[in-house]
Amino acid sequence: MKIRQILDSKRTLSFEFFPPADDAGVKRLFDTIDTLKTYDPDFVSITYGAGGSTQAMTVEMSVRAQRESGLTVMAHITCADQTSEFVDEVLRRLEAEGIENMIALRGDPPRGQSELVAVDGGFDHASDLIDHIKRGFGFGLAAAAYPEGHPESADLESDLKYTRLKVGQGAEFLITQLFYDNDDYYSFVDRAKNAGIRVPIIPGLMPILSAPQIRRITGMCGASVPAELDRLLEKHGADNKAVRQIGIEHTTRQASDLLDHGAPGVHFYVLNRRYSMTRILENLRESGHVAAFS
Ligand SMILES: Cc1cc2nc3c(=O)[nH]c(=O)nc-3n(C[C@H](O)[C@H](O)[C@H](O)COP(=O)(O)OP(=O)(O)OC[C@H]3O[C@@H](n4cnc5c(N)ncnc54)[C@H](O)[C@@H]3O)c2cc1C
Repeated sequence: MKIRQILDSKRTLSFEFFPPADDAGVKRLFDTIDTLKTYDPDFVSITYGAGGSTQAMTVEMSVRAQRESGLTVMAHITCADQTSEFVDEVLRRLEAEGIENMIALRGDPPRGQSELVAVDGGFDHASDLIDHIKRGFGFGLAAAAYPEGHPESADLESDLKYTRLKVGQGAEFLITQLFYDNDDYYSFVDRAKNAGIRVPIIPGLMPILSAPQIRRITGMCGASVPAELDRLLEKHGADNKAVRQIGIEHTTRQASDLLDHGAPGVHFYVLNRRYSMTRILENLRESGHVAAFS
């Protein structure tokens, strides 16, 4: 089923995973999917690696997840370092395997490179990829959005202009970059509405699993850590258990507040780990928020 159709009738619960690098990782991924399946997600998504074997793994894991778990899968695809022929090959394979939903992304520059140069015969931006997919394929399409602005953008206004372009080219809904202050999401949604963006904007939340990890990830994607959360991470940074608990409590509060304020769904960046995610979902169940997804 197309995810936009689901979004038209209810709020969505979704989980994002990455393609594992080895057999132990594959087992952990499918154990996590099995556990989270009991919370009845509307879809799960599998990220697309920036290079090498994980691209094939994205296809393999997406197909396997849909076949074995029976869940609706949204496959990620990036276009930064590939030709349109290669992209088409991946898309044809996913389509033949019954994947109906994609999130179309540009991808990031390879490690150690600050700027991204599209390959000959490739795509410069996600909007070009969306246009290409829309013309040649029947996938339901999503795109990325950035409540705090994409790190390469000159300002929030130009970033919003290109987000609107992605919607104009065919993105049927948006999923946001992770954020830790819901006000960033609310003000982004307001600005998007004022700019004429009418598609659902699903907030993306990433439970904090460790202090160094979240520092690295927020540093890379340009998301900020609110002062109070930052202070707690500073204080308990070396104690992973404490940090995980801080993350569980913070994400529970964020998700509850987003649902209370009418967000069209919540997309969780699970990082293939189930411990924190299940605790957050149990908290949301206890407070009655899981019912918001039914
Ligand atoms: C929900 C989500 C899922 C993600 N999944 C993956 C994944 O699976 N694999 C992966 O490698 N990365 C993934 N990313 C990260 C993403 O690839 C990076 O954030 C990347 O830097 C930008 O991708 P984009 O699709 O937003 O690019 P774009 O929309 O192309 O935007 C990139 C930058 O270019 C600007 N821009 C856009 N269009 C134009 C234009 N026409 N002219 C000039 N400037 C323009 C934008 O304002 C922005 O600054 C994901 C991000 C999110 C939020």
